[in-house]
Amino acid sequence: MRIGCPKEIKNHEYRVGLTPESAKELIVQGNEVWIETQAGCGIDATDEQYVAAGAKIVDTPDEIFAECEMVVKVKEPQAVERSKLREGQILYTYLHLAPDAPQTKDLVDSGVTAIAYETVTGPRGQLPLLKPMSQVAGRMSVQAGATALEKAHGGRGVLLGGVPGVMPGKVVVIGGGVVGFNAAQMAAGLGADVTILDRDPEVLEKVGTHFETRASTRFSNAANLYDAVCGADLVIGAVLIPGAAAPKLVTRDMLKDMQKGAVLVDVAIDQGGCFETSKPTTHADPTYIVDDIVHYCVANMPGAVARTSTYALNNVTLPHALRIARMGWKDALAADPHLAEGLNVHKGEVTYKAVADELGYAY
Ligand code: NAD
Repeated sequence: MRIGCPKEIKNHEYRVGLTPESAKELIVQGNEVWIETQAGCGIDATDEQYVAAGAKIVDTPDEIFAECEMVVKVKEPQAVERSKLREGQILYTYLHLAPDAPQTKDLVDSGVTAIAYETVTGPRGQLPLLKPMSQVAGRMSVQAGATALEKAHGGRGVLLGGVPGVMPGKVVVIGGGVVGFNAAQMAAGLGADVTILDRDPEVLEKVGTHFETRASTRFSNAANLYDAVCGADLVIGAVLIPGAAAPKLVTRDMLKDMQKGAVLVDVAIDQGGCFETSKPTTHADPTYIVDDIVHYCVANMPGAVARTSTYALNNVTLPHALRIARMGWKDALAADPHLAEGLNVHKGEVTYKAVADELGYAY
């Protein structure tokens, strides 16, 4: 199969759909790989590295969209890219169609076969192609929070790990799923005093067993939340109620009872945020202060560590890409019901129920 990877064109997107190593795996299996020149520059992967892997470098995305059977990307195709998609072509990337009617219409009109990373499932119903970005965001949240705690950023001047003779900082993680677990790992690794709150007894058991004495667990009810948040130096919001907006667990009223200069990192900001005073921020200007509490609410945290994020993403997307290339998309999806969950649009029809329902397409 001829597989193409254009340079990402969405604002501030530095990741790339195929690393040189992924290109090589596809080529070793008998495929042809075309890469747009400079596609890897955001992760410091040069054209020469792709050529050494056996890929062909092309000057423009046009050649890829015109001549490749499968296009592998990271972000949803932008309008100019969508105008180049065509029937019979496979598009393999993040799509997030439900809130995006114009994109869905263009994909339907193009006749493309679009497989979305975010709806591919795993054996226990999880979303394995989303998971690495939650891992990245969880781990980054502690870095971001530690920086925000510095005096120059408005924080209370606490070093999370403390030093001999001085107590470590108190980190409270709300939600013990993928983001929360990874945040707790980083915080515990730094030597911070870590508490994880969740409402799911199985999650509490899992994190309790994993962290043993390196972190405490508490059931997430209003009283425990208030107590934990008011004593914290750093609070990380990592809750998710699938398909719903995040619940506002820290109210504006609670801020006045928190320690002056404490930090709130709202990783759940992409679902509206779990603190009442959260509003989305960018990497260029990541924090703001409300009632003496520093807020960090960057909605695309993994974008700042494009290299790590690209490799983490490729680790989970490549095995499916290899199978699609080897078997053809039809047989690959027929052989793997989890990959089949990824099919969102095919030959002029929306093939994913939630998207069809949301946007009024027949299913
Ligand atoms: P997850 O499903 O693995 O974990 C969510 C956890 O929240 C679950 O354990 C659930 O039991 C818990 N929870 C739900 N309600 C709660 C409550 N009231 N109190 C305490 N815990 C509660 O989800 P995840 O992958 O960890 O993602 C968490 C959030 O982070 C999502 O909104 C996700 O979209 C977001 N995210 C943001 C970025 C970013 O760049 N900002 C990146 C990746 C993920």
